[in-house]
Amino acid sequence: HLERVGFIGLGNMGSRMASNLIKAGYNVAVHDINLSVIKMFSDKGISVKGSPREVAEMSDVVITMLPSPSHVLDVYTGPNGLLNGGNLVRPWLFIDSSTVDPQTTRKLSSAVSNCALIEKKDSWETPVMLDAPVSGGILAAETGTLTFMVGGPEEVYKATEPIFSSMGKNTIYCGNAGTGSAAKICNNLSMAVSMLGVSEAFVLGQSLGITASTLTKIFNSSTARCWSSDTYNPVPGVIDGVPSSRNYDGGFASTLMAKDLNLASSSAKELGLKCPLASEAKDIYAKLCEDGHGTKDFSCAFRHFYSGKDE
Ligand code: NAD
Repeated sequence: HLERVGFIGLGNMGSRMASNLIKAGYNVAVHDINLSVIKMFSDKGISVKGSPREVAEMSDVVITMLPSPSHVLDVYTGPNGLLNGGNLVRPWLFIDSSTVDPQTTRKLSSAVSNCALIEKKDSWETPVMLDAPVSGGILAAETGTLTFMVGGPEEVYKATEPIFSSMGKNTIYCGNAGTGSAAKICNNLSMAVSMLGVSEAFVLGQSLGITASTLTKIFNSSTARCWSSDTYNPVPGVIDGVPSSRNYDGGFASTLMAKDLNLASSSAKELGLKCPLASEAKDIYAKLCEDGHGTKDFSCAFRHFYSGKDE
């Protein structure tokens, strides 16, 4: 009974994820505030709705893929939002795949379960929400090879697996509501810090006279080896086809990394945890955005923060 899927947020990631659902045979209805992406879908004969509420009313499950917590809150609880002031006709299941903080996820998850469901489905008495952010960029969204990290009731996750596998290769169940979001912001915190660590070490190494390609060989057969050194190296020309080798275009935008570091940093602050690297990395990405590099891939810290080049 999960045939009608609503999809809200058809940006870089969402448009590709929704297309994979359509390819897998789901009956998909979409909504976005950007009329040009909406047109791409309506031109293909896909059902387009004018508000989140209209999407909800004709869907068994609604997936959201929006930029940040404020957009997600707006789509769920705003006027004509998914939750329709607490009285749902449908659906019983909501999946948020946006990268947001676990606090926002938990707030929404309880707002969802407090809704009255007018049309009850067999197994679940109350509407539920899963947080299911993704790892993997635009290419993984396109090829249906994303990794989903899912928080929420386990039996609901199990019932939803076919939906995830039509958009992704791996789905990992993390635990209660908010744990998927927690996994995602921790992954990105660690990825940012390792990217900055590799960038810093390469700037120092090159200044000390070692070439980037030699240092890469050393790192990749030594203890400093990581994704930022062996798969997504920030130094132009070291690895073909990655953003650093095409002027830092495409990839994962610095603005999105800045947003994710804000989420990690404010979560740490709220919990009273010391996370000095999160706050340092947050400041570096805020500076990169301020200096006009927000649309460049986040590996551009190598050129624009450490090397101070502005081409
Ligand atoms: P995007 O900015 O390309 O797309 C967001 C879409 O949401 C846009 O089409 C926008 O018009 C729409 N939108 C905004 N507010 C709306 C509203 N109120 N109602 C309806 N639609 C609205 O972003 P993206 O790159 O697709 O990323 C989406 C989420 O996925 C973010 O949280 C991001 O951090 C996360 N993410 C992105 C990547 C990546 O590589 N781009 C990878 C993993 C996770």
